[in-house]
Amino acid sequence: GVVTRFAPSPTGFLHIGGARTALFNWLYARAKGGRMLLRIEDTDRERSTPEAVDAIIEGLKWMGLEADGEPVSQFANGDRHRAVVEELLAKGQAYKCYASQEELAEMREKAKAEKRAPRYDGRWRDRDPSEAPSGVDPVIRLKAPLDGETIVDDQVQGRVRFNNKELDDFVLLRSDGSPTYMLAVVVDDHDMGVTHIIRGDDHLTNGARQALIYKAMGWDVPVMAHIPLIHGPDGAKLSKRHGALGIEAYRAMGYLPVALRNYLVRLGWAHGDDEIISTEDMIAWFDVSEINKGAARFDFKKLEALNGWWIRQSGDEALTDQLMAERDALPNGDILKGGPDAEVRARLLAAMPGLKERAKTLVELADSATYLFAQRPLPLEEKAETILADGGRDTIAELTPRLEAVADWAVEPLEAEVRTFAEEKGLKLGKAAQPLRAALTGRSTSPGVFDVLAVLGREEALARLRDQFP
Ligand code: GLU
Repeated sequence: GVVTRFAPSPTGFLHIGGARTALFNWLYARAKGGRMLLRIEDTDRERSTPEAVDAIIEGLKWMGLEADGEPVSQFANGDRHRAVVEELLAKGQAYKCYASQEELAEMREKAKAEKRAPRYDGRWRDRDPSEAPSGVDPVIRLKAPLDGETIVDDQVQGRVRFNNKELDDFVLLRSDGSPTYMLAVVVDDHDMGVTHIIRGDDHLTNGARQALIYKAMGWDVPVMAHIPLIHGPDGAKLSKRHGALGIEAYRAMGYLPVALRNYLVRLGWAHGDDEIISTEDMIAWFDVSEINKGAARFDFKKLEALNGWWIRQSGDEALTDQLMAERDALPNGDILKGGPDAEVRARLLAAMPGLKERAKTLVELADSATYLFAQRPLPLEEKAETILADGGRDTIAELTPRLEAVADWAVEPLEAEVRTFAEEKGLKLGKAAQPLRAALTGRSTSPGVFDVLAVLGREEALARLRDQFP
């Protein structure tokens, strides 16, 4: 069966590009009834932190892209990596290189002068080991083919040819005995039974080098799919301002995982003109070979619009639970902590049909719920104060007794009463509705004002209105 893997380096948070790579790996595994494994590439001991590992695992979990099985630590496989290098040495596919730092620097200088990429010149490739200088720990290099081509039949990039002269005898094991990324990735992918490598196209050349290691070991090369990186809306490398952020930043901005998945899958892959794609449909339709070669452009506006769509079509119960669950992640989550959870939840749920119509993010959703939990007398925003000062308070003084007389405190009878009142006074509906909104929410914008009246309940709503006149 299909085995994919996501292989982040735990040197920072799970960023948005990594999340999309994880999504493609996860989707492909789900689509083929296979498995997606998680490998933490923690060989850089200086820069890898346990916090980053946790953030990656937590980020994947939140995104709904959990890996199958336990995460694999690359560092923990060090002995196995060294054993494979021994095997390559024994087969004559690798050799010890004693070139000094000075010699390597010379090679780099020479390449610079000749305006070409630096390349190790193979000086220890065929030298007799007896010539080894004493007291020097060698590095171990792959004995790569000297000519010909290495071909990567990439699922996204097509057939990519690399001139073997450019690939050189790269290092497998450093002089301190630590494996290089190039070696560790191949050994781990092989040992984990990875059949498909889906990752950023910045690894394409590495793909060719890795293919050489597979061949030297006589192992099958997995299918490779190198996906274009995400760029900013201007086509330049994705910057922080344009979305190059950790997934936890998207969480704090109030995006739903389902909307992020929908947005990210569309960055580089399309199903006709479909904008809205559910996760089930992605699984049914996705194929790596359909990923676009061109760089994808990140667009916050589109993400926001999609998020709003997913919020509006979420069930009230599910959305309420989701908002409650995200409180700690949202900068304004405290709005929803003003009482016992069961009570907060019940009020939110009652208001949710009105709240969710306008919100594009969970932050906006929480913000629009502010009125539900506000304490009397309500603080008034400037615009609300202006509406009330500008004749609004008189309107409310007249309207309040009439609302009080409405027997059934529900949206329709309340609306009918306000409409009748406005007609009798020769007012446009807004002239009555605006002061009501200002008095009930302290703001000039809110969910539908009749919803607000109904959701607050008779007692609280009337008390907020009465606060506005003597
Ligand atoms: N650890 C590498 C990275 O984070 C990925 C390696 C791979 O996918 O082969 O860029």
